[in-house]
Amino acid sequence: MLEGIERINEVECEVPVGYVPGMRVSARFFLSEDLEESLEEGAVHQLANVATLPGIVRHALAMPDIHSGYGFPIGGVAAFREETGIISPGGVGYDINCGVRLLATPLRVEDLTQMRALVEELFRTVPTGVGAESRMRLSAQGLEEMLVEGVPWAVREGYGIEADAVHCEENGQMQDADAVPVSKRARKRGMPQAGTLGSGNHFLEVQVIDKVFDPKVAAVYGLEEGQVCCMIHCGSRGLGHQVCTDHLRVLESATRKYEIAIPDRQLACAPIHSPEGEAYFGAMAAAANYAWVNRQVITHEVRKVFSRLFGIEYEEMPLVYDVAHNVAKREEHDIDGRRETLYVHRKGATRAFGPGRLEVPADYRAVGQPVIIPGSMGSSSYVLHGTDTAMERTFGSTCHGAGRVMSRTKAKKSMPGKEVREALMERGIYVRATSDASIAEEAPAAYKESDKVVDTVTRARLSLPVVRLRPLGVIKG
Ligand code: 5GP
Ligand code: MN
Ligand code: MN
Repeated sequence: MLEGIERINEVECEVPVGYVPGMRVSARFFLSEDLEESLEEGAVHQLANVATLPGIVRHALAMPDIHSGYGFPIGGVAAFREETGIISPGGVGYDINCGVRLLATPLRVEDLTQMRALVEELFRTVPTGVGAESRMRLSAQGLEEMLVEGVPWAVREGYGIEADAVHCEENGQMQDADAVPVSKRARKRGMPQAGTLGSGNHFLEVQVIDKVFDPKVAAVYGLEEGQVCCMIHCGSRGLGHQVCTDHLRVLESATRKYEIAIPDRQLACAPIHSPEGEAYFGAMAAAANYAWVNRQVITHEVRKVFSRLFGIEYEEMPLVYDVAHNVAKREEHDIDGRRETLYVHRKGATRAFGPGRLEVPADYRAVGQPVIIPGSMGSSSYVLHGTDTAMERTFGSTCHGAGRVMSRTKAKKSMPGKEVREALMERGIYVRATSDASIAEEAPAAYKESDKVVDTVTRARLSLPVVRLRPLGVIKG
C-alpha cells in the first residue's frame, strides 16, 4: 500500500487526516489487495483534497474503480450538509448524468444466429460517433420541455412506453431542474445531439446473461440465464459538457467570493444555497434530464430494430433499470441516528439504495435497487442490488464500472484497434465502431478486471451480485 495509507481490512483503506493539509475528515476507499497495484497516488491525493471541503460528512469516499479525474477522482463519493456544505462540478464531472441502462428482451442466446446483421442494423439506426446528428426534430420549446421534464416528456412524445420512467433513477426527471441557467451555447450544442450515442467509452451492447447469482432477485428484475439483454451507456453529450464549462467559470470566482480555501483549482465550488450554487445545481439537473432522454430515445431506436428483425413488441423489451453515475443529488440519510438532508456527489459512482427506500421503484423495493456495472467490450458486466450496508457506509453508493488503468494514448500505442477487434471476433464478440482507433482506446486491457472490482464491492457488501452478462455484439462511438 502507498505510504501514509492504512489498510483497515481486506477491502477497505483509510487516508488519515493530515495526508494533505486542511483535511476536515479522513478519506476511505474500497479496494481489495489484488487491485492495489492499479492504485494511482494522484487519485488518492485528489480524494484527500475532497476531504478538505466545507460541510463534508463522515469521510471522502472512493470505490474500487478509483482513478484520477477532474478535481474529484472518478469513483468518488462525497456528501455535504445542506447548511454548511458546498456543491462542486468537479464532484459530478463533465459528462453530467453519464449513466447506464439495461433493457431485457424475450430472446434467448440461441435465437441470435445473425449477430453481425443485428449489430450492423443497430449501428445504422443509432447515431454514433463524435459528430453524430440527431434524428429527432427538436424545437427550442421541445428542448426546454425535455430539460425540465426528462423521460416522462420523451414518453409523451412517443419515444417510449409508460413503464419506462419509473424504472429510471429519479423517474428520469430531476425535480430541481432549471433550464434558465443552461446557456444558449449549451442548448445549441445539445439540440442536434439528442438521441445520439457519442464516442469513446460510450456504447450499445448486446449481451447474454451467462450466470445468475441470486435467482430470487433476478426474477424480481425479470432476468434469467441465457436471456439476451441490451446495455446502453451514454450521457449528456455537448450540452452537459457546456453546462459544466460555463458553471465552472462562475464557481471559480464564487470560491473566492465566499472565501472557500481549496487545495486545487479544479475543486471550484460554492455554498449549496448561494445563487451560484443553486444556478449550477439547477442546470446540472436539467442536463441530467437531457441525458435520461438521450438514453430513452436510443432505447426507442433499439426497440424498433428488435421489433423489425424479431417481430417482438416494445412491451416485451422492458427497461430493467437506468442508473446515473455522474451526478449530485439532494437525499435524506441517517447520520448518527438523525435524518439529515445531504447533497451527495457521485462521480463515477452508482447509487445503490437498499431495500425499503422510497426512491426504489415499488416493484423492486423489497430487494433494493438494481445497480448496473459495465465491464469492457471483452469482459463481463454485472447487475447487482443495493444494500443496507451501502446505506450505512457509503450514502447508498457503489462502483460504476471496472475503471481505467491505461490512458487512451497508452492504450492506442499498446495494441492496434484492428488486432483488438479480431481478437474479440475470435471469442465470438462482434465489435462495430466508427474507427479502429476508437477500438484501440477502449481495448479490454485498458480497464481493470470487472470481476475484481465487483468482488471488492461484494465483499464490502456495498451491493450484491444478481446476474453476470457476457458481451456478444458491441457498438462503440
Ligand atoms: P466511464 O463512464 O467511467 O467512462 O465508463 C464506465 C465503465 O464502462 C468503465 O469503467 C468500463 O468498465 C465500462 N466500459 C467501457 N467500455 C465498455 C464496453 O464497450 N462494454 C462494456 N460492457 N463496458 C464498458
Ligand atoms: Mn460519459
Ligand atoms: Mn459513464
